[in-house]
Amino acid sequence: MAAWRKVWLWRREQKTRTTYCLRWYEDDFRMRTKAVGTDKEHAEGERRKFEYELNTGAGSAAARLRTLGDLADEHLRVSAGSVRPATLTIQRAALETFCAFVGLGAKARRSESNGACRVCGRPEKVKGEARPESVRLGRLGLCAGCFAEALEGGRKSRVPAASPLVAAEFVAARLREVSRATANKELRTLQAVFRAAVERESVARNAFESVRRVREAQKRIRTLTALEINALLAACSEDRSLQAFVFAAATTGARVGELLNLRVEDVDWETGDAPLVNRESDGHVSKSGKERRVWFLPLARELLRIALDGRVSGKIWPWSVYGAHGRFVRAVARAGLKHATPHDLRRTFASDLQAHGVASATAKALLGHASITTTEQHYTAIPAETLRAAAERLSFARPAAIVSLSYREGLGRSEARTA
Ligand SMILES: [Zn+2]
Repeated sequence: MAAWRKVWLWRREQKTRTTYCLRWYEDDFRMRTKAVGTDKEHAEGERRKFEYELNTGAGSAAARLRTLGDLADEHLRVSAGSVRPATLTIQRAALETFCAFVGLGAKARRSESNGACRVCGRPEKVKGEARPESVRLGRLGLCAGCFAEALEGGRKSRVPAASPLVAAEFVAARLREVSRATANKELRTLQAVFRAAVERESVARNAFESVRRVREAQKRIRTLTALEINALLAACSEDRSLQAFVFAAATTGARVGELLNLRVEDVDWETGDAPLVNRESDGHVSKSGKERRVWFLPLARELLRIALDGRVSGKIWPWSVYGAHGRFVRAVARAGLKHATPHDLRRTFASDLQAHGVASATAKALLGHASITTTEQHYTAIPAETLRAAAERLSFARPAAIVSLSYREGLGRSEARTA
């Protein structure tokens, strides 16, 4: 927290009159002067007002925007061309929710919704139950009418109303309504919006900067063991195409969409070299957009030759993503295995690479992740055996090492005496 900045009055004596000026130091230690007229009383009022505004960020030299509504409008306007429409929708929703929260007022902000609108108190509509007074509760536990009213109030609030305290209260309130992941995403969004506004010198500070994200529960990573994959391949013996798909997915780590896009003529059947292109339904190359290749191992090529049955062109697997998913999940059930999806084969691939000491950077390149964090957090489960084997590799964990250690250090008296 910066120290309170003083603004003082300065009398400027001129030949015919005396004017009063405000003087203060800006962040860059340069002194600024601003004339406020010839009336001392008026000047003193201006001084007090300006000192308050300077220290709370309201209307400071840098901050142009007056209200939260202006901030939201400006952000959406300047971002319209440069961010994806989907991102803009998320930003708009987060800004609206935050504006409505500010518009609620301190008292309503602290109240719980308890199955009724936080403002008008009308009970939440229960599915299949008809109560004339009940309403559907939306964001912040408010009915549509009260939300709209709070939003309007929040949009009229001055920017400093979005203080770090209110920002922290907002995140805490959201955590009672939405998942940790959603609350974190909203927080990241608002941090970015305010950061951009500070960079544009539209507001003086980022109220969300110091608000911490909450820890998210780690999702368990489902991987298949070699035995499970064998059982799954056996359960596909009637459907050779699916069998080849399972083996190819498990041994390349490719995404389902990437495999389904593969054409027979794309694959170099001598080397097994297969370029992957991940296309969305509209034909756009999705994800990182970089070209990546995988290799079909000899056994995968063998299974594919059987599945293709002499076909030399067209898609190897002419299925939709949903179709592939359905076939796979049914085969898992036939094999009597715990539920798994085709994407779990990608996690299996990644975890197996890690178990065999393949560096994360290599795994990242093979999987086509843009960031190594994705590889490490969502794809690689370290099996218990690997962890135990690592612990056993400690050089001083061997019995002989322990005996000599206790002798030298005088630990474990009985050994020391007998030695
Ligand atoms: Zn209401």
